[in-house]
Amino acid sequence: MSTLKLLVVDDEIDFAEFVADVAQGMNFEVIFTDNPSTFTSLYHANLNIIVLDLFMPNIDGIELLRYLSECNSNASIIFMSGKDGSVLNSAQEIALEQGMNVLGVLSKPFLVKQLEDLLTKYVQHAPTQTIGFSQPPSVSDIESAIENEEFFMMYQPQINMVNREVVGVEALIRWVHPSKGVISPAVFIPIAEQNNLMKEISLFVTNTAIQQQADWLKSGLNLRMSINMSPKNLDDLLLPEKLTSCAIAMGANINSIMIEVTETALMSDVVRYMDILIRLKMKGFNLSIDDFGTGYSSLKQLVRAPFNELKIDQTFIKNLDTDQECRTITEVSILLAHKLGMKVVAEGIETEVVWKILQQLGCDEGQGYWMGKPMLSDEILAWKEDWQSI
Ligand code: C2E
Ligand code: MG
Ligand code: MG
Repeated sequence: MSTLKLLVVDDEIDFAEFVADVAQGMNFEVIFTDNPSTFTSLYHANLNIIVLDLFMPNIDGIELLRYLSECNSNASIIFMSGKDGSVLNSAQEIALEQGMNVLGVLSKPFLVKQLEDLLTKYVQHAPTQTIGFSQPPSVSDIESAIENEEFFMMYQPQINMVNREVVGVEALIRWVHPSKGVISPAVFIPIAEQNNLMKEISLFVTNTAIQQQADWLKSGLNLRMSINMSPKNLDDLLLPEKLTSCAIAMGANINSIMIEVTETALMSDVVRYMDILIRLKMKGFNLSIDDFGTGYSSLKQLVRAPFNELKIDQTFIKNLDTDQECRTITEVSILLAHKLGMKVVAEGIETEVVWKILQQLGCDEGQGYWMGKPMLSDEILAWKEDWQSI
């Protein structure tokens, strides 16, 4: 049974049914209505997508949108309209202003493929944490995902906050389970780690990400590639050699590869980890300390490890504009990193207000939904052009 839930509201019942059919064909769980006044009773917080007709008698799509905004809905919206296209665009603007996710607009009549493309885009881009699934994946689910090659990589841009240049991407693994839907790496990576399945997953991640860096390099784009490394991989004393030969064989630029290690990873077996980290650095890789502020590593360990980047955890960044404590932690982290000769990346920038505060605080680089969500490799170029044209 699919876990993705979709609600369609359209006073023209034929259209509502048409959308419902297409979505059901793609394994969505669908509710539809031709009576907009039943909307509030049908709405629930676990909906993934809401398809809204803009022009309806009694209550229109914009009023429903206001209701969704008041509920802090996480659902992604698709607007439909048979009238003037400019209204569709304005509706999209209002929705974005209200902090809603807009998946797209459909001018009636539209083709099945146009709707299918939007729904596919959702499945690929959905914020992984918000898609619920009742059962966590089992060990054998993960084993068959490895065997059936169900994993793929997405890349989230990282931007220089002084000149807005796109300097790199973070490689993030994705898994769409055939029946359980999208499963967050925050859920399956810990299970894989506990069950000795990280070796295969990490091999896939490093090979794919390093090959991607090499491919972009060949097309004239030298983007830094940040790769998350599980503490389990830091047990392998041969890791520096393996990564080096992989990068050389694929034609990637080692100096443009950043290895992200969480602070927590440093807490056990410090000597072994230091051995590996120092040798990675000596071979030309960059090292980043991820989720800074959430672990308990001592400052002494931090100074000793050869990191050249510090990533401030998103829990501090998200509320930077409203929470004084988050602001203080961020400010102090930036100062500390700079004093220690490290560059700072803020992750989880969701609004322009937060971006501006970070600029004022002297943060070097940023990553977050406001600039760009994780995307497929072939979407990066178009996104980059868009970003640079603003
Ligand atoms: P992380 O390394 O701290 O990655 C950043 C996470 O924040 C990603 O979640 C990203 O999609 C999310 N994010 C970025 N900007 C925003 C934003 O503005 N708002 C919000 N709400 N979230 C934002 P994701 O991809 O679900 O990954 C979660 C964690 O799973 C990662 O945290 C990392 O620890 C782990 N992970 C992801 N991919 C890999 C991988 O390939 N290998 C390993 N070992 N771990 C991975
Ligand atoms: Mg990371
Ligand atoms: Mg992080």
